[in-house]
Amino acid sequence: MPTHLDTQQRASIKRKSRYFIVLDDHLYKKNKDNPNRPIRVAKESEIEDILYHMHSDPLAGHFSVDEMYRRVKIRYYWPQMFNDVRQYVRTCDECQRRGKNRRTEPLHPIKVGQPFDRIGMDIVGPLPKTKNGNMYIVVATEYLTKWPEARAIPNAKASSVVSFFYEDIICRHGCPKEILTDRGTHFVNEMLASLCDNLGVKHRLSTAYHPQTNGLVERFNQTLCEAIAKYANANKDD
Ligand SMILES: [Zn+2]
Repeated sequence: MPTHLDTQQRASIKRKSRYFIVLDDHLYKKNKDNPNRPIRVAKESEIEDILYHMHSDPLAGHFSVDEMYRRVKIRYYWPQMFNDVRQYVRTCDECQRRGKNRRTEPLHPIKVGQPFDRIGMDIVGPLPKTKNGNMYIVVATEYLTKWPEARAIPNAKASSVVSFFYEDIICRHGCPKEILTDRGTHFVNEMLASLCDNLGVKHRLSTAYHPQTNGLVERFNQTLCEAIAKYANANKDD
């Protein structure tokens, strides 16, 4: 305890310290309602961040003062917490613009997995032959981040598709849990089936009745196709 404090101040600190506990170098406030979950004491420098994450973050819901206070206080403690929450919400630019229409219901975010869990694959072509003899483009689009990978291939055969899938997707991004493709023989074949089997990748097929199943890739392909067609016509190069 700091030595410059007088007896009274020391006694006061000692008295208050009964409500706190140190775990892993962090100060926590004991939790009467749930003794197994002590409440983290926020440092002054952390408060702004906490308020942002609990209110303004894209995944937070711009909750009202009361709702936000209810949420903050089960996780954090700091002196004058309610005042800070109220001040933060009242001065939130977005809340002011939206007026009284404040959200008090919890959000239900869409469940998404890890990047490269789910991949859509498609083939584009035949296109004008390039100098290297490529006529098709195989495209894979990652569903979470919409990240596309593409490779020019000479033909739409299974071996071309499988080496793209193995080298450009699995080796570079890890093994996906699931791939979605159309029912063309370039995707529905022994070679790809056995690779998927061995790696535990689920191969889902989009049906003719639900073409939107793989809409993400097809939408990207339209854009890519237009760009590449222009480029290929101009260069006949890869
Ligand atoms: Zn707000």
